[in-house]
Amino acid sequence: MEIKIAGCRGSLPSPSGRLLTGEKFHSEEFGGNTTCIYLEGKGGERIVIDAGSGIRNLGNYLLQQPQTKPVDVYITHTHWDHIQGFPFFALAYIPGNKVNLYGEIKIARDLASAVENTDSREIAQMLEEGGYTREIFAQQQNPINFPAPLEYMGGLGEFHDFIPGTPIRNDHLKIETKSIHHPEGCVSYKYTEGNKTLVISTDFEPSTAEIEKEMIQWWANADMVIADGQYEKDSEKNPFKEGYGHSDPFLNVDLAKEALVKKLIITHYDPNCNDTYLKDLEKRVKKYSLKQKGPKVIFAREGMTYPL
Ligand SMILES: [Zn+2]
Ligand SMILES: [Zn+2]
Repeated sequence: MEIKIAGCRGSLPSPSGRLLTGEKFHSEEFGGNTTCIYLEGKGGERIVIDAGSGIRNLGNYLLQQPQTKPVDVYITHTHWDHIQGFPFFALAYIPGNKVNLYGEIKIARDLASAVENTDSREIAQMLEEGGYTREIFAQQQNPINFPAPLEYMGGLGEFHDFIPGTPIRNDHLKIETKSIHHPEGCVSYKYTEGNKTLVISTDFEPSTAEIEKEMIQWWANADMVIADGQYEKDSEKNPFKEGYGHSDPFLNVDLAKEALVKKLIITHYDPNCNDTYLKDLEKRVKKYSLKQKGPKVIFAREGMTYPL
């Protein structure tokens, strides 16, 4: 498969420009768009992970390609930086296209009690119809928030809800899911094609030894892991914010080393981090990983393609 980065910023887009302090902010090297990753399978499968502001640019790219297969959009969670670009995804407005959306069902954080208190046929039907994910996207495009509601999107296909922990697809391109530690939850996706495995774990905070252990097991032997590196522990410029649900690239190296991950791609940069800081951080993290005999490390850059 081939992986394209259409957005690798977290929280809020952060374009290059002049700040009100008079300083210039540069983000052209790593990019300013919020999170959106595109995978193309060997069989031509078109997979998008998250619909941050980067999906606008991805839509323009996909419009130039033959529309041979549906586009499946997998949402890790519905915080704004992961869905805010969807109303600008041009492909979804064109009748004849098929853009399907997949997301975690969150009828209640405690799903077990929800299952107990709700008719199981009702839950099965909700999963089938993707009503939860549809509702969140419909709210975002409620005409009070945005002039074009979902009904204007003639290329929109089906919505699917799922419970993390259940595999979504189990053919030549296998897709597995896991719930990871983030406020209101987040889904990590694992894509396996042939003997190659990619895990995407954006938005997680490894705050306890137990959570770290779980992550190491989930990442075990992956060829590539794309992981949240928003903060830097012991940094003044970009301090670690406990409870915000994000990780640190040095810690990710430790986890990836334990998990025998081959390549680690860092993503979800804080909007306050400029290119100079990120380039320096990348250098330090690479050096650290080399010293630890850890994985090969790359900091994601918008517009780049990484083969797997
Ligand atoms: Zn995020
Ligand atoms: Zn989030």
